[in-house]
Formats: sequence, C-alpha cells, structure tokens
Amino acid sequence: MGETFTSSAKAALGSDHGGFGLKERVKARLVERGLAVEDTGPGDRAAVDYPDYALRVAEKVADRSADFGVLVCTTGIGMAVAANKFAGIRAAQCLTPDMAEKARTHNDANILVLAERYTSPDEADAILDAWLAAAFTGEERHARRVAKMTLSDGGAETGPSLAETDPETHAAIEREIRRQRTSINLIASENTVSRAVREAQGSVLTNKYAEGYPGKRWYCGCENADVVERLAVERAKALFGAEHANVQPHCGSAANMAVYFAMLEPGDTILAMSLDHGGHLTHGSQASFSGRFFNFVSYGVDKDDERIDADAVERLAVEHRPRMIVAGASAYPRTIDFERFRRIADQVGALLLVDMAHIAGLVAADCHPNPVPFADFVTSTTHKTLRGARGGMVLCRETHAKAIDRQVFPGLQGGPLMHAIAAKAVTFAEAMKPTFKDYIRQVIRNAQAMAEAFRAEGLRLVSGGTDNHLMLVDLAALDMSGAAAAERLDRAGLIVNKNALPFDPRSMFATSGIRLGTPFMTSMGMKEAEAKTIAGMIVETLRGGDDEAELQAMRARVEGLAMRFRPEFEGAGPERLG
Ligand code: PLP
Repeated sequence: MGETFTSSAKAALGSDHGGFGLKERVKARLVERGLAVEDTGPGDRAAVDYPDYALRVAEKVADRSADFGVLVCTTGIGMAVAANKFAGIRAAQCLTPDMAEKARTHNDANILVLAERYTSPDEADAILDAWLAAAFTGEERHARRVAKMTLSDGGAETGPSLAETDPETHAAIEREIRRQRTSINLIASENTVSRAVREAQGSVLTNKYAEGYPGKRWYCGCENADVVERLAVERAKALFGAEHANVQPHCGSAANMAVYFAMLEPGDTILAMSLDHGGHLTHGSQASFSGRFFNFVSYGVDKDDERIDADAVERLAVEHRPRMIVAGASAYPRTIDFERFRRIADQVGALLLVDMAHIAGLVAADCHPNPVPFADFVTSTTHKTLRGARGGMVLCRETHAKAIDRQVFPGLQGGPLMHAIAAKAVTFAEAMKPTFKDYIRQVIRNAQAMAEAFRAEGLRLVSGGTDNHLMLVDLAALDMSGAAAAERLDRAGLIVNKNALPFDPRSMFATSGIRLGTPFMTSMGMKEAEAKTIAGMIVETLRGGDDEAELQAMRARVEGLAMRFRPEFEGAGPERLG
C-alpha cells in the first residue's frame, strides 16, 4: 500500500503557455491545502516548449526532490508523452476525478497531467482532490504490472533503475543527454556513438574477469568473452590491414605506453612531435609518464607553412639517433606522410610508431593514407573519428605480437574491460560499412566548408586550412586568447577547446587559438550549410561583447539549430530526445 499525498508532501508544477492558467489554479489549490509547491514555470503565457517543463518536473520527481508532479498543457498529450520518456516516471493524463483516482491506486502514477482546454477550473480542483486522496493499493496484480513497466525502463536487468537507486547520478546523466543534444559540439576528439555501441558498452560483460587472451585465460567461464575479443581482433586487423591487433588497452595513452615499454628501456631516446606544435601528452610531455621515463627529442612544424618539416625531422633523427620515432598528432590539420617517416626511421635504424588516434576514422574510410604498411606499430583510440567505444588499441607486425601482448597484460593492465572490447567489436564492424565512408567524407567536407567560412571572415587558420577533420583558428585578428574565446563560446552552447598554436607567444593555459573539429556535428547529420552557419555564429559570438543577454540569445539560436538534428546511424533505433 502506498501513501496518500498529505499536507507534508511536496509538489513540482510546470506547464506550457497553453496550460499556464490552469497551472496557476492548481498551485493555489495545493497551497490552500497546505502542500509545499515548487513552480518550475513558466511565469506567463509567452510561448514555450512543453518538453522543457516536462523535463524540469520529471527530474524533480525522479530524484525525489518532489513527491509528485503536476503538468498542464492544452490537451495534456504532449506533457504526458514527454514526461513518460524519463526513467522512473509514470505520468497520467486525467480528465476526470475517477481517472486520477485509478492512476494512483492502479498505476502508482507520480505525475498528474491536466488538459486546460478540456478541464474547467472546478473540474481541475476535483481531479486534484481525488489524486491527493488516493494511494497505490500495492495489490499483487497492480504491483506486478507496475514492476513490468520499471523493467522496461532499465533494459534486461531486474531491480531498481538508476533513477531510483541513485537519483543524483541519474539526473546528471539526463542533463548530459540534454547538453549533448542542445549544444553544438566541435571538440575535434569527440563523437557520438550508436545505440548498438552503447548497448555493448553497457552490457553484462562488465561483470566478467578475463585476464589473458582468447583461449588462454586465467579464469573459467570466458567462452563468450573469447568470442567477443576474437571478433574485435579480427575486425580491427581486417579494417586496417594489420597482421596483429591487441584491443585490450583501456585508452590511447595505455596503448602508447605498451609500445614504449615493450620495445624500449627507460632513458632511451624517442623523436616525436612537440605538444605545442600539435603532439600529444604521451609524446614526451614532462607531465606524462612518457617524458619522465624516456628521453624525448621534439620535432615541430615549419615556421612558414606550419606543416611538418620532414627535412628537419630527418636532421634531428640523424643527430640524435632515436630508438623510436613517433608520427601522429592531436592538433595537426594536414595529411601526414608516413612513407617519408619510414624512410627516416630506416636511415637511422629506429622503430616507427604511428599514433593515429585522431585520424583512425579517416584511415578506415580510405580518406587518409594508412600507416599500417609503413609503421612497426600503430596505436589508436577508438572513440574519436572512428566513432566508437572509448578505448585504445595497438596494431603491429606479427614479429612484435608477443612482446606487445605481454606488455599490455600482465605488463600494464589487469583484467580487460570486456564490455568495452565488445563495444570496440561493434565499432569496427560499423566502420567497415560503406555508410561509414560516406560519413567520413562528409566530416572532411564540413571541415573544409567551415575553414572557408572562417577565412572569408578574415580569420587565419594554422597552415591555411585543413585536409582532415580539424582546424586551428588563430584569434589574433580578434585580439583574444583561446581560453577567453572558448569560455565565451561555451556560454553560447558552442563547445570548442583552447589550443596552443605553433610558436604561440601566449602560455599553454591562455593560448592564442581554438581547435575545432567536425566529427560530432557530422554524426548529427549536419552538412556544409550548417558548418558555414556555425562558423558564422562563432565569429559573431567572439566579435560581440560579453553581455549575458546577448550570449543567451545566441544560445537559443544554437539550440534551435542543434535540435533540428539527431544522431544518424544506419539501422539505428530512435534516440532519446532529452
Ligand atoms: N594519442 C593522441 C594523438 C591523442 O590525441 C590522444 C587523445 O587525445 C591520445 C593518444 C590519448 O588517448 P586517451 O585520452 O584515450 O588516453
């Protein structure tokens, strides 16, 4: 048996413009009856979007900061549909006191939805009174039916949903769904994964310890883990044409660490791209394990054309005789000539590691030369342009397979994340589809359209443009630091990161540039026209002032654009609208 809503209960209220009048009436009635009321708005009849208010009330009910909710719109339909998208919510549209009573006693409803067009103020009072007086009976047949609804909230698992167990975490995730859908994400290293990838990542494989490799595990019960890892390995090899793949590294940094520690001794010399010219932290930064364990020598880009200066790389290699050369970057907008790197490595007897974390999707789609035929080792993340589960991998020649496998486990890691490996298997399969090639081609076209729009606005791009998915915008013409620009854009819902430019006079905390990438917006279905519009919005925001009202107006435009798009995947089921 549940409880009735007495005067100690707290209600959360919301409406749209069509339900505003009746919401005010409900508020008065609840206050008159002594209940605590939180009105989430709106404050007048100006037009608003009902899902925004359904979300506010649903969140409060799901996280238990309200005991129940009341939502009102013109027909009650939109509010009921929107509120019922949320795990843990049972919103009932009630036109009569009897319906309200049944919604409570049979369905354990926790949000009452009213229709202003069909419900007079007096009828609303009666419906509300019936709602407050009724409680869930708890009878076995009703409890069973309600439990079945809860089951479908959380997928295959029994037991309470996340909303019920941990409302704070649940609410943060709900807000993140909304943030990702209502802003425009231009972080070059991010993407949005398919429902299939998320299903694998959220699967029961997280429950399994599978130390070792397929067929050679330390624990029993690994037959399904073996299937999944073999799928991931075989697909990775086929996708990139590699002789051997290790898909266990938890992230890109761990993949690089595995190669360094498998092949080198602490103190050995490695030649890699410097962080401030576009390299990654694991390419020798003192803040990372790499710079602390190995003697890194850095190469960079040419001062004039801002492209990798291969002749300078060769001179440094000859001078320092590194044991390993690293090609690959986090912020380099141009094609990398792996063949030339191979020749330089051979000239000095060095091993060649290509870190293709950023461009793996382009390589998979034949839109960037494949490093595998040239490199001794290729490392990657699987979550950037490759558009998959968060993680890392190492590809290598068969001769190095044992050394790499031993270094990943037991050298650096314990049990592999089998759920992540399952998601990597799905990622590689998705990247083999012809539609993935179309996607990557669009990523590049969008980057070029965006770059052209910035140039037309008089902004300089590092190296003059881009061949891949990202660009670096020099903010000198706007007399602004990268940090200030990124912060202001964030307030307008345009998500970018500050980035040092080659030969940057500012500190790495301030920087003179921003890095922009198109993988995420392209996954949302945006094309060249939107890329240009977004560049225009960025320039307008940066040229405009710091005025909060102006930034909010831009935020509304950004949201309007973002909400017209949704993740586009072949065969993808409906995504949740936040
Ligand atoms: N290598 C490159 C070139 C990267 O850009 C990154 C991540 O940004 C990494 C390695 C590290 O990947 P993770 O963040 O998964 O450790």
